[in-house]
Amino acid sequence: MPDHVFGRSTRGVPPVAVRGEGCYLFDAAGKRYLDGSGGAAVSCLGHSDPDVRAALHRQLDRLAFAHTGFFTSEPAEALADALVAAAPEGMERVYLVSGGSEAVEAAIKLARQYFLEIGQPQRHRVVARRQSYHGNTLGALAAGGNAWRRAQFAPLLVETSHIVRCYAYREQAAGESLADYGRRAADALEEELLRLGPDTVMAFIAEPVVGATAGAVPAVPGYLPRIREICDRYGVLLILDEVMCGMGRTGRMFACKEDGVAPDLLTVAKGLGAGYQPIGALLATGRVYEAIASGSGFFQHGHTYMGHPMAAAAALAVVTAIQERDLLAQVRRRGARLDARLREVLGDHPHVGDIRGRGLFRGIELVRDRATKEPFDPALGIHRRIKAAAFAAGLICYPMGGTIDGRSGDHVLLAPPYIIDDGQIDDLVAMLAAAIEATCPAA
Ligand code: PLP
Repeated sequence: MPDHVFGRSTRGVPPVAVRGEGCYLFDAAGKRYLDGSGGAAVSCLGHSDPDVRAALHRQLDRLAFAHTGFFTSEPAEALADALVAAAPEGMERVYLVSGGSEAVEAAIKLARQYFLEIGQPQRHRVVARRQSYHGNTLGALAAGGNAWRRAQFAPLLVETSHIVRCYAYREQAAGESLADYGRRAADALEEELLRLGPDTVMAFIAEPVVGATAGAVPAVPGYLPRIREICDRYGVLLILDEVMCGMGRTGRMFACKEDGVAPDLLTVAKGLGAGYQPIGALLATGRVYEAIASGSGFFQHGHTYMGHPMAAAAALAVVTAIQERDLLAQVRRRGARLDARLREVLGDHPHVGDIRGRGLFRGIELVRDRATKEPFDPALGIHRRIKAAAFAAGLICYPMGGTIDGRSGDHVLLAPPYIIDDGQIDDLVAMLAAAIEATCPAA
């Protein structure tokens, strides 16, 4: 096979995916793979969903594209209505883009323009957390705290400062309650705002459940409400990035609903298009929107493919399926089963340090020494080897290295389709356990 495509995650040409069905993908050689991570938490409805396919066919027969400089479209309007209806309190406007990085990029620019419009031009800084990923375009990369992704582009990135993560497994002190820990972790934001000068900061951005850089680490109870309080005290906008954990993945349509917190700006992507179309969305409160509507009247941003009718039609079908098939309840039920099976099979493994997550968004952290939580030497590439062993056996999972701060272990992220059944959950856990055992044996 010719080898002209670049940007692959593997060296050499990977297997050619030719078909998807339910929780499985098939390659050109006929090999079947159980999709245990939905790619990277994308394929929430599984592959080849009949309702999404029908919606796409219908839309293609009517209208593929109309530029948003001239038109809106029926699916874009209906999708925005559906997102607002399901969103946390106060979210009233939706800006449709083509993916997660674009949604975060738009959030940062909207925050900046908001403060210009309300006469606070000195607010230009963003605060984020060290263990975070918000995308790969320059603005989103600047917000993220992932050191190795940022390193070579650092001179191009806008100024962002990073505070400590919220990561109970590693950061909760001995004898400290979870509530006290959550408060301590959140108070780092206040300290940073005071250090920077609070009226120079426009936004704080965080993932309610950290995905790629940490492996499904939820905020501890009380952390996000405290963050909300601090943002309000200093007039800073709260951006919650639910590109990975949103759209039902945690058993709520928006993960922050579990924490009882409503942001000023909210980003979603992956599960929104569920892999059927590239799409992302930025949701904004009426307050942010009105400042611009009654000021300059125009958000100075835009992309050619924003609000694309085909992408909006797919996303509308996805949101409708999640709601009409009661998939949120199913995610909570199946998520509890996945968690229980992981604990049964891997809970005593000497190299499994932590099993965590919410809904069908689960993470397993691997460590050299369970008692001390000492990570493996990153040079061993434990997460890469687990990924390869699982893939060879026909399981797709999403392992990442714990090199963010040199103190975290390797981890494996699981984010299977919401339609996964009990038997497939058992298969997933058995195949993952075998891959872990082959890579870092218990004895
Ligand atoms: N934000 C979060 C939390 C993500 O996990 C990702 C991707 O992994 C992004 C933003 C960027 O999304 P995309 O890859 O669609 O640009």
